[in-house]
Amino acid sequence: MTKAISYAAVSAKEKLAPFQFERREVGAKDIQIEILFCGVCHSDLHTARNEWQNSVYPVIPGHEIVGRVTSVGADVKAFKVGDLAGVGCLVDSCGVCEDCKDGLEQYCDQEVFTYNSPDKHTGKMTYGGYSNQIVVDEHFVLHISEKLDLAAVAPLLCAGITTYSPLKHWKVGPGSKVGVVGLGGLGHMAVKLAHAMGAHVVLFTTSSNKVADAKRLGADEVVISKNPDEMKAHLKSFDFILNTVAAAHNLDVFTELLKRDGTMCLNGVPEHAHPSPNIGSLIFKRRQIAGSLIGGIKETQEMLDFCAKHNITSDIEVIAIQDVNEAYERMIKGDVKYRFVIDMATLKD
Ligand code: NAP
Ligand code: ZN
Repeated sequence: MTKAISYAAVSAKEKLAPFQFERREVGAKDIQIEILFCGVCHSDLHTARNEWQNSVYPVIPGHEIVGRVTSVGADVKAFKVGDLAGVGCLVDSCGVCEDCKDGLEQYCDQEVFTYNSPDKHTGKMTYGGYSNQIVVDEHFVLHISEKLDLAAVAPLLCAGITTYSPLKHWKVGPGSKVGVVGLGGLGHMAVKLAHAMGAHVVLFTTSSNKVADAKRLGADEVVISKNPDEMKAHLKSFDFILNTVAAAHNLDVFTELLKRDGTMCLNGVPEHAHPSPNIGSLIFKRRQIAGSLIGGIKETQEMLDFCAKHNITSDIEVIAIQDVNEAYERMIKGDVKYRFVIDMATLKD
């Protein structure tokens, strides 16, 4: 075991604070990474505060991890010391089920998340990226382009793949009219990615001060979702809507904007259930509400390569780790432009 330092939540009510722990020794298939930057996802906040009622403390959040390889096991082939490396939301899966064989490890019944999951190696829980180093099986480590701003790449490891995967699955491309609901970490990546895929992108926001940004990020149109007249103008017109909102809300106002056979995919996992859907608005147009969980490892690499090719990164605000609690408060208010990223150089013994 090697000593590691981090910021952790020790209970749902307490602020994150410095915490020491141990990482496992580097095994034959493992890669050890010095973490340079880690994005702050709304899932980190949901978990730190036990909003999903499954947190086991201490919780060390963080699953948008980028850094440099400091050690590799004897059987590691694809990485060497000094390489850039990324780790997203997954660090293990069974490797033999249908989902794993299909490269969809995120749907494996035995998937292991980067934090707050039972860790097969240590018998404890997994600990995430708000720390100085991590040890991960090579299969779950991603290659990162040297040509992009490293801090701004970090959010691609969750916000990027979580929006890329459904956009690809529902075949978004030239000719599609795509809605993105919520301009936060996930939403702003969805706008950038759907725009790069060639779709006509409409951003739905509750924040009138985000309109100009949404257009700069690639939205063709912006709708204030609280304004019924603006919403009505888009009735029955969307092929696909990606809903990234982190709180319970009425889904019907968005499903009504879908064409016949259109799909709204939910990415958000709010603390409380949505007060909908209205079945009538689904059956009369054969509309679908679906869900999507992050993306598989192969697809995550594909997304990173797509972003390198199209020069896509996240719009970020770099923070010191000491400011992470304040960042959480700002995230709840929707005051994020558009992802906080922790500079891990600020984490000291
Ligand atoms: P975020 O940065 O906080 O963005 C959420 C956005 O939702 C806000 O910026 C806001 O956009 C909108 N919103 C509208 N009403 C809201 C309200 N009452 N409270 C909070 N937000 C509201 O969050 P994120 O990191 O993008 O994550 C979004 C959700 O996806 C979270 O629930 C997270 O846990 C989940 N998630 C799911 C997956 C998956 O695999 N499915 C992966 C990662 C995250 P406007 O100001 O534009 O309205
Ligand atoms: Zn996330």
